[in-house]
Amino acid sequence: MQLEGKVAVVTGGTRGIGYAIVTTFIREGAKVALCGSRQQTADAAVEKVKEEIPDACVMGLAPDLSDEAAVEAALDEVRQEWGKVDIMVNNAGISQATPLVDYTPADFDKIIDVNIKSVLNGCQAAARVMGETGGSIINTSSMVGTYGQRSGVGYPASKFAVNGITKSLARELGPRQIRVNAVAPGVTATDMVAALPEKIVKQLESTIPLGRMGTPQDVANAFLFLASDSASYVTGVVLPVDGATMV
Ligand code: NAD
Repeated sequence: MQLEGKVAVVTGGTRGIGYAIVTTFIREGAKVALCGSRQQTADAAVEKVKEEIPDACVMGLAPDLSDEAAVEAALDEVRQEWGKVDIMVNNAGISQATPLVDYTPADFDKIIDVNIKSVLNGCQAAARVMGETGGSIINTSSMVGTYGQRSGVGYPASKFAVNGITKSLARELGPRQIRVNAVAPGVTATDMVAALPEKIVKQLESTIPLGRMGTPQDVANAFLFLASDSASYVTGVVLPVDGATMV
């Protein structure tokens, strides 16, 4: 059990990569608060987890992640319930594929709110609740945060920002024993990818030396490593989990 006695919060925990992180952490002994965009979906995910892992210690929350006070209140709720927060996973995110000429200010505002402000708010609330006792913050980046992508410029821009937040906060929070890392998945089989046109998916798969898309579990395993004491001297890293995708 790599996370015995730990308390974790996972945003975007209702499905896809986030859900795999939630179940992986619970199987390794953690108590997990999963966050969804609505209380109803968070509650449904909690029920699903309990069906899969009957003795799971899990709760569902739905703070507005773009609202700093709401995120802080959610983490306070977790601390009141379970006494602390050791691990904060800022995973919620949306993607975009709109070409630049059709891109609107509203598109850009949305990606900033969901993919950047939410990460910053999660890091800040976690740093406050972790105090001087230390912890692990892990953000979900993407391979497009290294390579960019051909359309939907706001999405890779948001992941470059996530990398910047991760590397900077590792340096700022290191003296308080709070490690800050990111995982950069490649193409991973979730709803986000199911929403892409098949042509784009095939094109993406042809660039993967390991010959297949990643699974949510492949990605969750990297989160487990970074959350665990096995990564006690790892901070400020953006870990690619992309089968060495060549874009
Ligand atoms: P998904 O669409 O299956 O799940 C997204 C999660 O984010 C859901 O739990 C959803 O409730 C939550 N979410 C979305 N908008 C939200 C909002 N406004 N407020 C609160 N929660 C919100 O996607 P996924 O593929 O599991 O993606 C998870 C993360 O992984 C994202 O940050 C995404 O950018 C990143 N990522 C995914 C891939 C991929 O190929 N699937 C690749 C690289 C990075």
